[in-house]
Amino acid sequence: MNLATKELIGRLHFHSLCAKRHWNFLSSETTINSLSAPIDDWFQLSSSKAVFLDRDGVLTRERSDYVKTPNELEVLPGVGPPLRDLRNMGFRLVIVTNQSVVGRGLTTDEQMARIHEKLQSELKRMGCSVDAIYYCPHLPSAGCSCRKPEPGLIMRAAKDLG
Ligand SMILES: [Zn+2]
Repeated sequence: MNLATKELIGRLHFHSLCAKRHWNFLSSETTINSLSAPIDDWFQLSSSKAVFLDRDGVLTRERSDYVKTPNELEVLPGVGPPLRDLRNMGFRLVIVTNQSVVGRGLTTDEQMARIHEKLQSELKRMGCSVDAIYYCPHLPSAGCSCRKPEPGLIMRAAKDLG
């Protein structure tokens, strides 16, 4: 694992680690720096190992007025090499993100699909990609099971990706 990868992982919020059907949930404040074991060890148990990444503030620039259109999406520089490293280490990469912007009526699921198409094509341009993107469209007050830190999105990803 090179330095850039360590730095990115240090910035990432690890919402969970997937080891086949077994789940270890870590708080959103958990970073690689606070993990006692190297990240490689955390994932060794799994035949289908995955890293779950947040979107805004991790891979893309966070906007106080939300990302509502593809034009407003800006991929952060420097995410390419670390994502490639994680891929080369055998991890599947899955984005799980809360997007209450949809529930607020500021954008639509159709727009979100276009935003994520743009995200994937920008990542491809940087020589990497993610396996899937899952988002919760609901308001925080909705009490849904998919808004992080609820595990709904990750359960869905596990079902879809095996
Ligand atoms: Zn939800």
